[in-house]
Amino acid sequence: MKCSVGLAVVVILLSQSLIAQDRPVAHHYFSKTPHEHLAKWSYTGNTGPAFWGQLDPSYRLANSGKHQSPIDINTTTAPVSKLPELKFDYRRERIAALNNGHTIQHNEAPGSFLFVGAEKFSLEQYHVHTPSEHTLDGKPFDLEIHFVHKSTSGAVVVVGVLVQGDENAELDLPLYHDLPGTPGENVAFEGSRNPSDFLPRSRDYFSYSGSFTTPPCTEQVRWIVMKQPIGAQPKYVERFATILKANNRPVQKLNDRVVEKSK
Ligand SMILES: [Zn+2]
Repeated sequence: MKCSVGLAVVVILLSQSLIAQDRPVAHHYFSKTPHEHLAKWSYTGNTGPAFWGQLDPSYRLANSGKHQSPIDINTTTAPVSKLPELKFDYRRERIAALNNGHTIQHNEAPGSFLFVGAEKFSLEQYHVHTPSEHTLDGKPFDLEIHFVHKSTSGAVVVVGVLVQGDENAELDLPLYHDLPGTPGENVAFEGSRNPSDFLPRSRDYFSYSGSFTTPPCTEQVRWIVMKQPIGAQPKYVERFATILKANNRPVQKLNDRVVEKSK
């Protein structure tokens, strides 16, 4: 009897140490279909961001992680560093929008890449938060687009583009034309677009080490937040807000991290 109790303890300890390892490739950011999470989470009430860390053992980094995202970026104190140049080699393709209950997401077909210096990452998907998750000097923006990339070795880079509603915006947003209003709905559109249309002209950026902003909030995500926001017609911004309500995790503590800027 004593032995089986001991064995159970060993099994529990082993399973906890397995959970403790980062498994970014298994994260739902790379899931191409709607799916059940380990535990239901949301942006409000008792399954909201303040409780994510308690909803499931695998979500514990949401509470205990020291390198969590998003953050507020102090644009003045961030030191200028010789950061690698960004090259977006995205290709034009037909857009499909999936409402997965947490965001509206486009899943990429293979063939679009981001180069960070000599490192190559494939674009896996992009999705939208409203209002923005990252803030600049305490200021939130109307939307934030996250372009999620992965290298062949499993390293993850997320590019954040801040979007502000602007009547004079030349950019023909929306990203997805008409939006899927209900969870599970997937809408494919005629015509095609290049996701690089949703990048600012300037390639200057902020860089820091963070996490996914949704459970399980896995760390060791390299964040690239573009310095220059883009403008979008207010009616599109409002449409996202109507469907998604507020799907932004509050900003997290910087702790020992330094945010660098390219210029
Ligand atoms: Zn995101």
